[in-house]
Amino acid sequence: MSRKPTREEIRRAPKVLLHDHLDGGLRPATVAELADAHGYTALPENEPEALGRWFRDASDSGSLERYLETFTHTVAVMQTADALYRVARECAEDLAADGIVYAEVRYAPEQHLVEGLSLEAVVEAVNAGFLDGGREHGVQVRSLLTAMRHQARSREIAELAVRYRDHGVAGFDIAGAEAGNPPTRHLDAFEYLQRENAHFTIHAGEAFGLPSIWQAIQWCGADRLGHGVRIIDDISEDGAKLGRLAEYVRDKRIPLEMCPTSNVQTGAARSIAAHPIGLLTRLRFRVTVNTDNRLMSGTTLSEEFTRLVEAFGYGWADLRWFTINAMKSSFLHFDERLALIDDVLKPGFAALEDRQSTV
Ligand SMILES: [Zn+2]
Repeated sequence: MSRKPTREEIRRAPKVLLHDHLDGGLRPATVAELADAHGYTALPENEPEALGRWFRDASDSGSLERYLETFTHTVAVMQTADALYRVARECAEDLAADGIVYAEVRYAPEQHLVEGLSLEAVVEAVNAGFLDGGREHGVQVRSLLTAMRHQARSREIAELAVRYRDHGVAGFDIAGAEAGNPPTRHLDAFEYLQRENAHFTIHAGEAFGLPSIWQAIQWCGADRLGHGVRIIDDISEDGAKLGRLAEYVRDKRIPLEMCPTSNVQTGAARSIAAHPIGLLTRLRFRVTVNTDNRLMSGTTLSEEFTRLVEAFGYGWADLRWFTINAMKSSFLHFDERLALIDDVLKPGFAALEDRQSTV
């Protein structure tokens, strides 16, 4: 009789993270120190513990717009090459401490130009932080360059992603409030990326429904969906009947970058137990589990897995399935994905499962 994986065992399992925002994962102490060093005086709290609590509380408000407001503060302290390097390096360290072996971390270069950095300088500072932190702590971290969906720089950011694709950048993304900003506004960027054989994901189907998902896939050609939870609107409650879009997403194995705690905070799901991830997993969509914003949600990937184990009774086979789904869905090359699956993920999970069955 196997017992449930514990939080500590889950932390030790080799994991893969595809949807995590650099500006949503700072350590509270780093936010406070960088604000102090750069003369940023608008922080709501100055003491790290109180500041961490403020971020979580502000993010619990139930609205995506309010949630996005918390980023004003983190982005404000990430305006120099040194600050970006430090945040990226600490990000790699924190992900490694959580047992992550491969991660794609995203951020919007256009948001870090306030103090005069060029787009290239932003990308190079973050890449250097990921590289140094990754080497030091044993995790591979690649960047996804995000364009903000209410801005008009998506083509420029897409070109930047292509220019750096052999130097730490794995792909492209668009993010920001979905309502009123359909992904088709950025067709030029997506068509360019397709012509360049480049990879991209699109935040779609989080706050907004099926039309957003349909556009992201069928007009823009997204390789993956950021969140995609609203695909549930195309599936009958008992899971017996799928609409054409849901069938298409499942048939084509389009990865869903699901972020359970974040979705509960923004109101995209009522609770973890009521999160569509339960049904979508049962129906064998290409489900992956992610953190979105570790600071705002007070979470880690291990914590997300632990919450799912508690809500749905998942065991090692399910956690391994989510993890291999994520590795298969990454923007690494096929041979690199396969090597990580065969040499790191499968042996890592097998060791934990064996250990458990002999206890
Ligand atoms: Zn996101």
